Amino acid sequence: MLAETDPFEIRAPGARPRVVIIGAGFAGVAAARALKRSDAEVVLIDRRNHHIFQPLLYQVATAVLAPSEIAAPIRQLEAKQANLNVILGDVVDVDSAHRTIDTVCPGIGTRKVQFDFLVVATGTRPSYFGHDEFAAFAPGLKNLADAEAIRTKILSAFEMAEATDDENERARQMNFVLVGAGPTGVELAASIAQLVTVTLRGNFRQIDPATSTITLLEGGDRVLPSFAPSLSRKAAKRLAKLGVKVLTGVKVERVDAQGVIAGGTRIPSATVLWTAGVAASPIVQLLGVKTDRAGRALVEPFLNLPGEPNIFVVGDAASVQQDGRPVPGVAQAAIQQGRYVGRLISDQIRGREPKRAFRYRDKGNMAVVGKNFAILEAGHLKTGGLLTWFIWAFVHLLALPQLQNRWRVQSQWLWSYLTGQRSSRLISEAPPPTNASQATKQTLTS
Ligand SMILES: Cc1cc2nc3c(=O)[nH]c(=O)nc-3n(C[C@H](O)[C@H](O)[C@H](O)COP(=O)(O)OP(=O)(O)OC[C@H]3O[C@@H](n4cnc5c(N)ncnc54)[C@H](O)[C@@H]3O)c2cc1C
Repeated sequence: MLAETDPFEIRAPGARPRVVIIGAGFAGVAAARALKRSDAEVVLIDRRNHHIFQPLLYQVATAVLAPSEIAAPIRQLEAKQANLNVILGDVVDVDSAHRTIDTVCPGIGTRKVQFDFLVVATGTRPSYFGHDEFAAFAPGLKNLADAEAIRTKILSAFEMAEATDDENERARQMNFVLVGAGPTGVELAASIAQLVTVTLRGNFRQIDPATSTITLLEGGDRVLPSFAPSLSRKAAKRLAKLGVKVLTGVKVERVDAQGVIAGGTRIPSATVLWTAGVAASPIVQLLGVKTDRAGRALVEPFLNLPGEPNIFVVGDAASVQQDGRPVPGVAQAAIQQGRYVGRLISDQIRGREPKRAFRYRDKGNMAVVGKNFAILEAGHLKTGGLLTWFIWAFVHLLALPQLQNRWRVQSQWLWSYLTGQRSSRLISEAPPPTNASQATKQTLTS
């Protein structure tokens, strides 16, 4: 139960301006921190109590890391920022005219929160390009729950393959299909390849995990289309070396309990993973702003909404054009936008006019393709190999949210590098029996 006078709804006369930030991802946290020294009351709202380092989610999904190693409690992360309050809640409505938002808080109900400035940093969710029915069979990778569900799906497939004596079912369980060869698809596929050839070696008696098939489907003509073609070729070569089958120019027509139909051919698979596309979080729709095809808000050069100087959208939820091209949906862009808006609001509170429009500084783009190989594109520099892999590892370690994350990830990586073992091989919840496994059970008991 809430007190009758909720301090977030009722404002004291003469109170400091309140900046409400929805989303404690890269952009939201950066915006909050940029407001640390401002004379504002900052309220950071997220539906989860933790900030996630999404670039390493694929390692949680493939049992290299545990969920807590790439996440940090938002309250702990921002404990030293005295002007900041954290609310755990799901924002379900935004009333721009009355300057309020509705947040559903667990165990409490709906809280109304007033704002003077609003920063929407709610990121994206997987997009199935109008085929939401695929979601039930092909999970996307966006948060820790997704990563754990994928890990369970992958590890369970081997258990079911080991248990069945139906050859077709065994093959289906050992077929892994990933839809979309962007960085997440490539990183996941390569990591699964190493799981089956190295980590699971000698662990089963009826099956050899190394005989699994990993198929990466891509609608475009190459893997990693956001990188230069020369780097795509390098990555494709590396994937082939790891045993990943890459099929480009194929359209997925259907995903169901039996697998995928792509380019007119059925690929039987018990594990189909969706790494294809993203759409902006639905909160953006509530702002009444024009959006691009992926539902991202079309913002002004100062990242505010047209006609709304105090309402901003940043990070993956915003569509920002620079020099005629969209700013990419990557962590660096989200951090820079969040920081920019935090500073801009701080200046506005001090009575200063905003000086310059937002400009994204591209510090380079990286993708990892299994152990010992990564690619890097930074301006004219296009490179790939072992040294780049070490740079990738170093950069990602430094970027983790807390020292304790860095420490734990570093030791897991070292252990995994030296032994090939992965320490989070946990099946959280046994999957329900399939028809084939039920049939096997009946044979055994009859
Ligand atoms: C699997 C994966 C791998 C990636 N790899 C890389 C990489 O290697 N390099 C790179 O630069 N980028 C990578 N990215 C992209 C990068 O993570 C995003 O660009 C970045 O996270 C965007 O930051 P954001 O703050 O806009 O959104 P997010 O980080 O997604 O944060 C959004 C936050 O809003 C919260 N939220 C959403 N809706 C609500 C609501 N209604 N109420 C309350 N809270 C809400 C969410 O819980 C979340 O905490 C990857 C993304 C994924 C999913």
